[in-house]
Amino acid sequence: MKREIALGVLVVGGAVMMACAGAGDSEPMAEPAESQAAPPAEAPPENVVEVERLEDNLFVFRGGGGNSAAFITDNGVVLVDTKLAGWGQPLIDAIGELTPKPITTIINTHAHFDHVDGNVEFPATVEFVAHENTQRLMRENNPVRGLATEPRPSPFDGPDANGIPERTFTDTLTLGSDADRVELHYFGRSHTGGDAWVLFPALRVVHAGDAFPNKMVPIIDSNNGGSGVDYPQTLKKASDTITEVDRVITGHGPVMTRQDLSDYAAFVAGFVSDAQAAKAAGTSAADFIAGWEPSGPYAEYTKGPAERLAVYAQDIYDATP
Ligand SMILES: [Zn+2]
Repeated sequence: MKREIALGVLVVGGAVMMACAGAGDSEPMAEPAESQAAPPAEAPPENVVEVERLEDNLFVFRGGGGNSAAFITDNGVVLVDTKLAGWGQPLIDAIGELTPKPITTIINTHAHFDHVDGNVEFPATVEFVAHENTQRLMRENNPVRGLATEPRPSPFDGPDANGIPERTFTDTLTLGSDADRVELHYFGRSHTGGDAWVLFPALRVVHAGDAFPNKMVPIIDSNNGGSGVDYPQTLKKASDTITEVDRVITGHGPVMTRQDLSDYAAFVAGFVSDAQAAKAAGTSAADFIAGWEPSGPYAEYTKGPAERLAVYAQDIYDATP
């Protein structure tokens, strides 16, 4: 606990020092009062990751996209997800504060830009690992359903680009052994068609990626293999299979419990079955979403933008006989 606090202060202290250095470059005495109050225009953006210690050898990093996790093994660091472009180096710096060991392995939970674009900032000695569909989807660069209609400029397009996973798996893959063991599981289509669940058995922790993003209606990216109709059974399979865990690292939210995962599976199942009932009743997808709210035990969950959800509801309609 003391170490966590110290790290927090360290990160904040670094940010303050950077801000002060920027301010020192200006000449406040010569400036009119209005511009003294404004932040210096030349200040660079500060990509500072926030560090949360789960164990002495397991850390979660927040900021700049999805939640990353670093597992420090005897042989080196296994990193899960690399955040947005420009956040790979800050991750490298933050991990360097925790251990002198090299980053040997990067696992990408899925192909979305806010989990993989930092890959290109890591050295070519790193082994990149992902589900076989994620490898393909990273190459295809399809826009995220409901968020964009055009593909982003891919950091993996250039001839020398580094960071497309070369090691892939279909159902399960085990890395390392004993206390250093990492298990990758694929339970089926949900958020995308290649969502890896990354289990640290010795620590009873799993990283769920965006299959369990937070207490919210998920993004269901049918452009990249995601499926609303399959989502509930995939979450149920994950919840039923990964029983030996106490903590679940979510894609974008706080660390949660196994009970939260099982609740989330029921929440998503409810959303999908409500959509299917609305279709059967002849309600349009837009009208269904306009009248739907998380309720009962899920009242605290976030609904998200109606326009985006109507797209996902329509996908569920189209996939339901
Ligand atoms: Zn995602």
